[in-house]
Amino acid sequence: MLKLATSITCTLEGHVRKYLRSHWWVTLFIFFFPLIVIYGYVDFIRSSELNARLGWLLMVGGLAYLFRKTLSQKLLLGVLALMALSGAFDILYAVTFGGIFTSASFEAMMLTDPNESVEFLLAYASLENVLLFVLYLGIVYWSLRQVNFKNVETKKERFYAFLGILMVAVAIQQIYQRDRFFDTVPGFVGVALDYSNNRKSLDEEVATRQALFTNKAFSAHKLSEKPQTYVVVIGESMNRNHMQVYGYPRKTSPNLSDLASETIRFDNVVSAFAQTRPSLSVTLTEASSDKSLPESKAISLLGAVKKAGFKTWWISNQQPLRTPTTAIAAIADESHFISHDFHGVENNRYDGYLLPYVKQAVEDKAQHKVIFVHLMGSHLQYRNRYPESFSVFQGSEGTRPYREDLSSSQLQYINEYDNSVRYTDYVLGEIVSFLKPGPQISAMSFFADHGEEVFDSKDFKGHGPDGVTKNMLEIPFLLWRNEAFQTAFPDTVKRLQARRGAPFMLDDFFHFGLSVMQVESDLLVKERSLGSVEFKPKARIVYGRDYDKDIK
Ligand SMILES: [Zn+2]
Repeated sequence: MLKLATSITCTLEGHVRKYLRSHWWVTLFIFFFPLIVIYGYVDFIRSSELNARLGWLLMVGGLAYLFRKTLSQKLLLGVLALMALSGAFDILYAVTFGGIFTSASFEAMMLTDPNESVEFLLAYASLENVLLFVLYLGIVYWSLRQVNFKNVETKKERFYAFLGILMVAVAIQQIYQRDRFFDTVPGFVGVALDYSNNRKSLDEEVATRQALFTNKAFSAHKLSEKPQTYVVVIGESMNRNHMQVYGYPRKTSPNLSDLASETIRFDNVVSAFAQTRPSLSVTLTEASSDKSLPESKAISLLGAVKKAGFKTWWISNQQPLRTPTTAIAAIADESHFISHDFHGVENNRYDGYLLPYVKQAVEDKAQHKVIFVHLMGSHLQYRNRYPESFSVFQGSEGTRPYREDLSSSQLQYINEYDNSVRYTDYVLGEIVSFLKPGPQISAMSFFADHGEEVFDSKDFKGHGPDGVTKNMLEIPFLLWRNEAFQTAFPDTVKRLQARRGAPFMLDDFFHFGLSVMQVESDLLVKERSLGSVEFKPKARIVYGRDYDKDIK
């Protein structure tokens, strides 16, 4: 009996030892130990993180049967060592900051002074992160030293080798199709490759926009020399049909409701696209969705008001490396991306953290100020957009979904979305409270880059060009102004109030902005500005479809 037990243990031990010496073990460990740590420390992980690692396991594991020559074997070991280093960084970042690497984390890292780096590392070193880091690399080193490569012999091994080659093809196809490494190459390395690629093209865009601002001949001047402060708040993924001020049964915007008598609410405004980048490219510049003027030749609203003599700010809770906002922000006199304060981590980075920076800008000594504020609003993972104290909506009361018997997860998304709307309302209320006390003329506009479908008209949550719904386009558009503004520019106010229901598309915001901020410019097309006598509504074509005829 004892003999049998010993022999079983011995065979088992033999098997384990054999397995630990196989290339499968080290490959599995290198790709999946970091993922386990990430799952333990990070709230929100894209599914691609798992898929990419599975793909790489099959790829490296399969190719190992073919890479038996010294040189090719060294190459494969080199790739594994590189991925292990990448995994070690993933572990450090996840344990220390509770996030996974993004381009924003890279940007935050790049902004760290090299002299500060050592100090930085020491400040964040803990028993937990150092121990996991050392344990991981230690086991990798031990496994790589004794790894045994095997020739293709059995049918099964031939199949694995074939899968390995197939995965190489899949990876190349994915990188080519997505035009990025991230999502295909897991963790740190994938983001690093994209970062260096994007950085180059973004640097070019920044230089182009700077040159355009300096060289393009255009006029812009203030119509009033009185002190003025304007705030342009850019929301994210906000569907106005989920806002109390637009008739939603839930109290999602109590602050805006309280401000109703001081606010002009436009009821018929749509975004020109259902995605951030194309929408903001035409919203924040003189370009329009008809493409008559290429974006690269279009002056930004920020550039125009800056030329008119306003001091400009760009304060953002969005990614610091994005088209077109990075290049527009670069023109501003002052810019701040709060992701730098958070080492690029997206979790728990609420829009409320923007408020001290906005307050500081409002209190700045300059007489003429325009402050652009870019919110994270209701982006993607709604529940990551507001602190626990704003988790107010539960159950289904007051919702207006596409069908009565929603699943609990659908209902949860709606509740989380409504909480995020309520949080944005709080942020807007705070900004107005900064502007209110001043004797100077001030106003705040608010719109979102596009809307969001949240199971309102179909079984879908999100936004995008395919299957676009009215909820992805119907955005809030509000202008709060104080008494001084009212007194100084009564004609503008009267005209705007008369046009509350006028059909307007966000790509003409440039012209609206110039009229409201009382800037005279040869770039201003009066027919396109709600604030001008000459305003003429136009057909609102979104992705080739007429919103008023086909989508509404
Ligand atoms: Zn967006």
